[in-house]
Amino acid sequence: MVVSMQLSSGATGPTPNPPMPKNDKLPVTVWGEFRHEKTDPRVAALYPHGMHEAIAAPLRTDPALAVRTATLDEPEHGLPPAVLDATDVLTWWGHLAHAEVRDEVVARVRARVHEGMGLIVLHSAHYSKIFKALMGDTCSLRWREANDKERLWNVCPSHPITAGLDDYFELAAEEMYGEPFGIPAPDELIFISWFTGGEVFRSGATWRRGHGRIFYFRPGHETYPTYHDPNVQRVIRNAVHWARPTVRRRDAAPNVPAIEPLPPDPAAAQRHHH
Ligand code: ZN
Repeated sequence: MVVSMQLSSGATGPTPNPPMPKNDKLPVTVWGEFRHEKTDPRVAALYPHGMHEAIAAPLRTDPALAVRTATLDEPEHGLPPAVLDATDVLTWWGHLAHAEVRDEVVARVRARVHEGMGLIVLHSAHYSKIFKALMGDTCSLRWREANDKERLWNVCPSHPITAGLDDYFELAAEEMYGEPFGIPAPDELIFISWFTGGEVFRSGATWRRGHGRIFYFRPGHETYPTYHDPNVQRVIRNAVHWARPTVRRRDAAPNVPAIEPLPPDPAAAQRHHH
């Protein structure tokens, strides 16, 4: 039903909207930088198949999802147009090599978000080119690597992203991220973290950009087993479902004829000659 409505409205514009994928399963791409795992034995021990595989594995147990992975050092960072066209929700973890992500790939991802693709931004990807571009802000924060405990408060218990969670959950050790966080005011605040050292942080937040839904989720430093934590896995899975596109509309600003008859317009001829 959504598809036929889109095609009829798209017919009035210069570029028809691509059809929504007809998959029974939600196509998800898990993107990982995949560099720490190759150089830091602590990270390799925690994530022997890469952090992206640890993020993807619990999603693959969900029969409603079709999950693939992509990494920085693949051609086009694993995100050629055909892959992005076939992706409804993209998750993004990066840290060391934000600057190596090519601007044309960033522009491609951003355009897909505007069309309706969901984007889940994880941990140090707060400084990724794609998140900064979509936020239009500094995305800066304060940080410390010192084995703080993190307590994530669920401040939106009725939200689909927190389904199945208690009022809070804890991670025994994590990197600290503290306020002020340089983000535009979120549409919805989902989690607030407290750290042993005294800081707090907006750990889960949503925005809409174009027709796409964006969720930032803080935990996930590479030297901790965070992506093996069942609560973290549940949040990411809930978020993937929440971020599912409801439309797919290509960006367009067409010059259009009137739908209803217009009154006489004496200036029309002049205007057309300009
Ligand atoms: Zn980190």
